[in-house]
Amino acid sequence: MNKVLLITGASRGIGAATALLAARRGYTVCVNYKSNEEAASSVVARIRAAGGRAEAFCADVGQESEIVELFDAVQQRYGRLDGLVNNAGILEQQAKVRDMNAARLRRILDVNVVGPFICCREAVRRMSISLGGGGGVIVNVSSAASRLGSPNEYIDYAASKGALDTLTIGLSKEVADEGIRVNAVRPGIIDTDIHASGGEPGRVDRVKHMVPLRRGGTAEEVAGAIMWFFSEEATYSTGAFLDVSGGR
Ligand code: NAD
Repeated sequence: MNKVLLITGASRGIGAATALLAARRGYTVCVNYKSNEEAASSVVARIRAAGGRAEAFCADVGQESEIVELFDAVQQRYGRLDGLVNNAGILEQQAKVRDMNAARLRRILDVNVVGPFICCREAVRRMSISLGGGGGVIVNVSSAASRLGSPNEYIDYAASKGALDTLTIGLSKEVADEGIRVNAVRPGIIDTDIHASGGEPGRVDRVKHMVPLRRGGTAEEVAGAIMWFFSEEATYSTGAFLDVSGGR
């Protein structure tokens, strides 16, 4: 197999776990990162040490021009694109709506909605059969928050993931004829650094009693769900959502 998969925000957490698994499944992996070149290089090094193919690509997915440059760089390097995982995402500090403002909401929407939207556009321009592409698969990393709403902590983040869900549904229908499937995973409480950036490093332990499986999930468990959509078993799934939330 010589398929090329681009994963945004893949220098750590769910993105890094997905990069490692995708490489083991035979994909050439484009490891996007925003600023931590060392972490991205270490993911690439681990993939290569295991005999896989990977390269790091710097781009802030909150910036449209950087996204276009990212996809151009991948195209120039490999001449094809077969898959996209819109994984990069951010949380801000826990807050109630009464203490939120438009600047905070816009920061979140830029990375969690506008970024994935533009990445989808660039992927569709390259994968669409009618435009000379070979079809492909897009997986958006949403959140259980899109259905739970995250009151008193992250309503803005939850709303951004709700928008991503709707983008997944609409785009799946728009590009089905182009040989492109578009799906999403909805992780629950996963043990990654995002909780520290949300101002709550101990969150997984604090909330695990609310999870029917009574624990936080791992990045690897989410990576497995993401990569299922790229498998031969998933060829009839588009516009679909896979919950990876321990039953929450
Ligand atoms: P994480 O914070 O470890 O990873 C997020 C990654 O996105 C980081 O590598 C970060 O550098 C990158 N990123 C952030 N802004 C970026 C930008 N502007 N451009 C490029 N990259 C950027 O957290 P994670 O848990 O691995 O999160 C991955 C995805 O999973 C996110 O979309 C997140 O919303 C989603 N998610 C996580 C959980 C959880 O509990 N961990 C639950 C539901 C959904």
